[in-house]
Amino acid sequence: MEELSELLDGNQKWAAEVKRDKPDFFEKLSKLQTPEYLWIGCSDSRVPANEITGTLPGAIFVHRNIANVVQLTDYNMLSVVFYAVKHLKVKHIIVCGHYGCGGVLAAMSKKSFGFIDGWLSNIKNVQRLHQD
Ligand code: ZN
Repeated sequence: MEELSELLDGNQKWAAEVKRDKPDFFEKLSKLQTPEYLWIGCSDSRVPANEITGTLPGAIFVHRNIANVVQLTDYNMLSVVFYAVKHLKVKHIIVCGHYGCGGVLAAMSKKSFGFIDGWLSNIKNVQRLHQD
């Protein structure tokens, strides 16, 4: 539980700083979200959308998965895109990769990683079809 205490303490500290800088931020945010961007990024803990773009909560609607894969059979991703476009009316959709992506490296390694192999199959196919 000590690890969770660290997260909770960090959240309280962050919230206090935001409230100090923008006293009405959380009240406004709780009533409405109007993000201009949908971000489809990697689950990698090193590339969180808000932090790496210097934006606060409410600025970016986010979907993340391993290797930022966009598959037309992924109902989770499709629902996020549908909601973002139809209801939130985002202006931009960003599919953001990153250097050193473990998912892409795994897909290209030709090794088996168990359950995740199915998820990475599209990346493997792109590599196989366009290797030249
Ligand atoms: Zn990645």
